[in-house]
Amino acid sequence: MKNDKPIFYTIRFALISFISAVMIFLIGFAFTNHMKNANSSTSLPVFNENDKIRFVIDAGHGGEDAGAIAEDGTLEKDLNLSIAKLLGVVLELNGNEVVMTRTTDTLLYDYYDDLEDYTGQKKVYDLRNRLKIASEKENSIYVGIHMNKFSMSKYSGLQVYYSPNNDISYNMADSVKTRVKECLQPDNNRGIKRADSSIYILNHAQIPAVLIECGFLSNEGELALLKSQEYQCSLAITLFSSIIGYGN
Ligand SMILES: [Zn+2]
Repeated sequence: MKNDKPIFYTIRFALISFISAVMIFLIGFAFTNHMKNANSSTSLPVFNENDKIRFVIDAGHGGEDAGAIAEDGTLEKDLNLSIAKLLGVVLELNGNEVVMTRTTDTLLYDYYDDLEDYTGQKKVYDLRNRLKIASEKENSIYVGIHMNKFSMSKYSGLQVYYSPNNDISYNMADSVKTRVKECLQPDNNRGIKRADSSIYILNHAQIPAVLIECGFLSNEGELALLKSQEYQCSLAITLFSSIIGYGN
């Protein structure tokens, strides 16, 4: 029996992807111009105007480290990568330099080193290497993408952490929190949190650095949103619009 569904779905997926990409570009372009105009009248804490800022987008976990796992089997590492890629694309489409710490399902423990045996050290090397990638150039901004999970399913909402090592990190985190409340989650009253030593990268980063827990995998409604392409696009654009003012 002839079945033309796969072709239909492929075409539909291609169309949705194309339309999403165009929308991301147009909205991003509008935001960039808006921020450029805003920059001329306000004093955003940007770096030296002549130094191009590099955005380091870090999809948390990967490979054998799934991160948090939802009840339906959804893996944090996969959602992190999808959202990180969208954010990277929208930043790039708007002329920014972007470095993705990973674009595939992998950990980065052997990114710089080649030990014979990484047993028991993979996570340590992985985090150290992500920090190293982020810190390779001074004029960089680090954005880590993660998901939350809690034992009680009632909790939901995006949560932002910031590096304690500079003021820009605090301002960026505040900007993300504010924009998310305005555009995506009007009921989100979570305050931004200063990272302690349990968040290795933020604790050690000297560059502006924030880590975004995009939502709770333990909350059924939020999980459904986080898995949808539309919400991932909205989230990526919201994050883009809240961090772009810190680049140039
Ligand atoms: Zn995580």
